Amino acid sequence: MNLTEAVKAAGIVGAGGAGFPTHVKLNAKAECFVVNAAECEPLIETDKYLCRTYADEIIAAVAAVATHLGAERAVIALKGKYRAEIAALSDAIGRMGAQVEIFEMGTFYPAGDEQTMVQQVTGRSVPERGLPLDVGCVVDNVGTLLNIFDALQGKNVTDKFLSVVGEVKAPIMLHVPVGTAITECVAAAEPTIGAYSLILGGPMMGKVLEDQAAIEAAVVTKTTGNIIVLPKDHYLFRRAALPMAAIRHQTRSACIQCRMCTDLCPRYLIGHQIRPNLVMRNLWREEGMEDNEEYLRAFGDAANCCDCGVCEMFACPMGLSPRKVNQYIKGQLRSRGIQVPRNMEPQAREFVDQRHTPTDRLVARLGLSQYYGLHAHTCKELHPETVFVAFSQHIGKPAIPVKAAGDHVEKGELLAQAAEGLSANIHASIAGVVEEITEKGARIRGRKE
Ligand code: SF4
Ligand code: SF4
Repeated sequence: MNLTEAVKAAGIVGAGGAGFPTHVKLNAKAECFVVNAAECEPLIETDKYLCRTYADEIIAAVAAVATHLGAERAVIALKGKYRAEIAALSDAIGRMGAQVEIFEMGTFYPAGDEQTMVQQVTGRSVPERGLPLDVGCVVDNVGTLLNIFDALQGKNVTDKFLSVVGEVKAPIMLHVPVGTAITECVAAAEPTIGAYSLILGGPMMGKVLEDQAAIEAAVVTKTTGNIIVLPKDHYLFRRAALPMAAIRHQTRSACIQCRMCTDLCPRYLIGHQIRPNLVMRNLWREEGMEDNEEYLRAFGDAANCCDCGVCEMFACPMGLSPRKVNQYIKGQLRSRGIQVPRNMEPQAREFVDQRHTPTDRLVARLGLSQYYGLHAHTCKELHPETVFVAFSQHIGKPAIPVKAAGDHVEKGELLAQAAEGLSANIHASIAGVVEEITEKGARIRGRKE
């Protein structure tokens, strides 16, 4: 079995993003293999923990993948301030004689955005709505590399490392079976408040969970890397709840066209055609605009927005929401069937390195300073009695179940087979009995040892 087949069999998907099936990404040749260990958003601890704890495994996997891709460069990119992590990785590189570079990035957001990272590492800008492979690069998260190491030893993806931060006794790492209830993870971190809401992921782009039923139904997937526990009335939840009608009204009455949203936009900085201030300026006439050509001229830029949130959570002095307006406009572009042309050879703006958003100032704007700078030093293993393993934890089609209710399964056994096309295998994350199968996933009750 070659590397791509081993990765496919193990059910590996991107551990740090939306869950793109890794075997598809690795079915390529590339000049440069970039490993993303930059921990894009503040408060997340997982990548750092993996670099400190599993440096040998990560370097071995990086070398194997770089050889597989035929890459001339293999680079691990992380923030320069991660001294302990850089020391651990450098030590492993030295001992193993691996041809792997460490690339030190500044402490800014979104350092871990793969297009920003590729620009920083190679000086090349990825085309609008393109892939790193368009400029000869493949990018994978460091957690994905650890899974690849395991896959090369014949181990399927069954577990997940994640951090729990915010209103908890202390930030903590957890190692849990995929499908563990999010509430069990929070309980293990000993929350300091009774009523809480959650963000799964980072504070800028993570998934907000406020409703109690949604919190109780949520489970760990292959892409869960962090849980932030916050008071229900936190600024981030109030901001997330703002309806589009209110955003539209605020935009019309308060946008002063200062251009800060454009000047600090990470996609604008790498040379993409995106000027959120113009979208905001035109919003007042959007509803009555019938001509699609005119719509494209006024709003086509929104198609290049990556939802990073710099504009609304940091740049705008008026507290407006260009990101949400862009999300709304993207929906309108789709429903009108408007194709927005792509610049395939963007060039980074000359001031790209002077306009990064500093993470510490961003954290202060988000109302998270009290949690920033605290790190997870210990890792707890959880052994839940039951897990709910979702069949769709990745981009593409859901996996197709190969087990039925009542079946006994071993940990790591195939539970659902990747569908034709873009999909990924799903494995049982604990040994036990399949209690129920729904169209969404399988509940397994663990066997008592
Ligand atoms: S969310 Fe804002 S800052 Fe980020 S890419 Fe979109 S327009 Fe630019
Ligand atoms: S930063 Fe805010 S006020 Fe300035 S142009 Fe953008 S949306 Fe308008």
